[in-house]
Amino acid sequence: MKNSQIIIAACLSMLIFSCGENKEKTQAPPVAEVVVNTPKFEADSAYAFIAKQVAFGPRVPNTAPHRATGEWLVDKLESYGATVIEQKFAADAYTGETLQLTNIIGSFFPQAKKRIILAAHWDTRHIADKEEDPTKKKQPIDGANDGASGVAVILEIVRLMAADPNRPDIGIDVIFFDGEDYGAPEDEIVTGDASQIWWCLGSQYWSKNLHQAGYSAYYGILLDMVGGKDARFYQDEISVYFARNIVNKVWKNAASLGYGYTFPMERSAEIIDDHVFVNRDAGIPMIDIIDFSLQDGFPDHHHKLSDNLEAIDKTVLRQVGETVLRTLYQE
Ligand SMILES: [Zn+2]
Repeated sequence: MKNSQIIIAACLSMLIFSCGENKEKTQAPPVAEVVVNTPKFEADSAYAFIAKQVAFGPRVPNTAPHRATGEWLVDKLESYGATVIEQKFAADAYTGETLQLTNIIGSFFPQAKKRIILAAHWDTRHIADKEEDPTKKKQPIDGANDGASGVAVILEIVRLMAADPNRPDIGIDVIFFDGEDYGAPEDEIVTGDASQIWWCLGSQYWSKNLHQAGYSAYYGILLDMVGGKDARFYQDEISVYFARNIVNKVWKNAASLGYGYTFPMERSAEIIDDHVFVNRDAGIPMIDIIDFSLQDGFPDHHHKLSDNLEAIDKTVLRQVGETVLRTLYQE
């Protein structure tokens, strides 16, 4: 690999991740338009799911709001008909703490052989380390966008699909990963094993300890920071390397819905997020829809106290929700 742009989804330190050199612009091949009748994605409902999560308080591992939110997510998935597995495990943090974590897996439509994963992280960052003010730096964030938005869009999609008698014959496996955002502060060098990645703890665990022996899926879509104002979803290099056809399909659908501005058909960087481990260790192609651009980086509110409800734009939630729904309904 040469001079890769390594960007850290959740966080911070630099590391080398060898991922090929597919740098040319991705062009979707011409495909005849497929008419699909999807349910109407309700952005108000998705927004309410964000507000509900934020109201619990920051979902920091080993805290009461984290436990309460986990219980709510399990109930919510079951209320839409999912069979839920709570994959509980302990993980070491960069601080030396032991984190009690839970990946929440909700399986819908078990008879369907063709299965697609919808994933997001449900924990939130324990520190607002991108704040300037030293007292603010130590506070946990609401994570309305970084965490809650992906969960909310997925909940809205499964709510709609569970109620739709005309849904496609696919199974949906929701995976809410825990411990995604517990990486070290921006300005802290963690000593020890340089290959250790201190964030994406839930996906690292799940990818090596699948919730069902022999589990596989056709592909997966990871949603991370999908509700911020002025969001731009470029194509990350990891997604393109492992799942180029899925990237093409999703971005083509966004364009056909008129959302090409929000989903530019241009590359961003090699973003280290939960999808890396699902691709590399579980062997399941997974793309990441994440707000990051080479020009501007992550959104301004990233890892700041301003990642609260005011950072959320319902229009962006709707664009992402409709794009994913259209993709699912073409399967
Ligand atoms: Zn984060």
